[in-house]
Amino acid sequence: MRKLTATFQPACEALVHRVVGYAEVAAEWTPHLRFLVKAESMEERAGVEALKDAGLANVAWVQSAALQDGDVVVPHPDRDEAVVLMRESDTHHALFMTNRCNSYCLMCSQPPTPGEDSWLVAEAIDAIRHMRFSPKLLGLTGGEPLLLGAELRRVIDAVAQYHPQTRMEVLTNGRLFAHPQVASTILDGLSVPVRWLVPLYGHADFVHDFVVQAHGAYDETLAGLLALQAHRQAIQLRIVLIEPVLQVLPELAGFIGRNLPFVREVALMGCEPTGFALANRALCEVDLSAWGDTLEQAARVLRRHAVPHLFMNAPLCALPRTLWPVASRSISDWKNVYASECDRCTVKAGCAGLFAWHEKGWKPAPLKTIEAGEVIA
Ligand code: SF4
Repeated sequence: MRKLTATFQPACEALVHRVVGYAEVAAEWTPHLRFLVKAESMEERAGVEALKDAGLANVAWVQSAALQDGDVVVPHPDRDEAVVLMRESDTHHALFMTNRCNSYCLMCSQPPTPGEDSWLVAEAIDAIRHMRFSPKLLGLTGGEPLLLGAELRRVIDAVAQYHPQTRMEVLTNGRLFAHPQVASTILDGLSVPVRWLVPLYGHADFVHDFVVQAHGAYDETLAGLLALQAHRQAIQLRIVLIEPVLQVLPELAGFIGRNLPFVREVALMGCEPTGFALANRALCEVDLSAWGDTLEQAARVLRRHAVPHLFMNAPLCALPRTLWPVASRSISDWKNVYASECDRCTVKAGCAGLFAWHEKGWKPAPLKTIEAGEVIA
């Protein structure tokens, strides 16, 4: 989530607004939304204040070189900061549903907190209303979104109402779908395409439960996956490549192929070096290039079972060349960077690059500039 410097009209409320250019306000204004009008000069600020004085209570001016027209933001005038919830020009779009969670994963990038945060649902629905564009794909993330029960369904329904062309992805550990009541509340009668991104970390309970630090989570997750299948939902399994998982990766791939053939896709993901991963560095920091044989073996097993798969958050130079065709650019725009080795690299355009905070954590492998025409083993 971007936090950008901005100066606001005094008394501007810390509620969701849409950013609009001064010249566009007449065309975009509607009484049902709140607008921050980009005002670059004293005259433009005076113009916005005149609109407000004339009765347009839902406009306020903002001065910021960093904000873009169409941004959906929450202004914080007390600290001269705008929190950007949605930006049209981004490649990836996501809304944050809750910071609460019922797991405690070793490598969690967003360590959960127990506090009441139901206001995030209202904020998400407000953001959905304020978006002037409909992204192709919108992620709903947390924390654990299933803890919201019917409130999660309310958010899904709001996306379907305001942005019917948008497909959704929900990142969830799936455990609560083991309860028929939760599955029924969220999934019954769902008429819009939603893909459920569910992590699975082992072929046996002791591995998965250790990684997510929750006894019984493996059985619940498998029951949740079966509930999703019973509701004909699309599933992407997610496997974060930390050491305890890499140790059993080929076995896990075989387990998926034999027992969960209905999943649409398996995503094998480099670990994000932040949050709990920093605290559990001995287990989470891996040099992916040293695990190339294991990654290839797991990919072979998945291929043998005809399970589609891809690699995410892994730079191309960290992967064996044979896996490049299934590597994707996956890191959200605002946290994606490249290193000096990338400047001259010929495959940069198709490479996931690095998380912005790798300098406080680690790189997923020693980087290697790929020269023109070069083939690496
Ligand atoms: S050097 Fe940089 S751009 Fe090239 S493959 Fe490695 S991480 Fe990607």
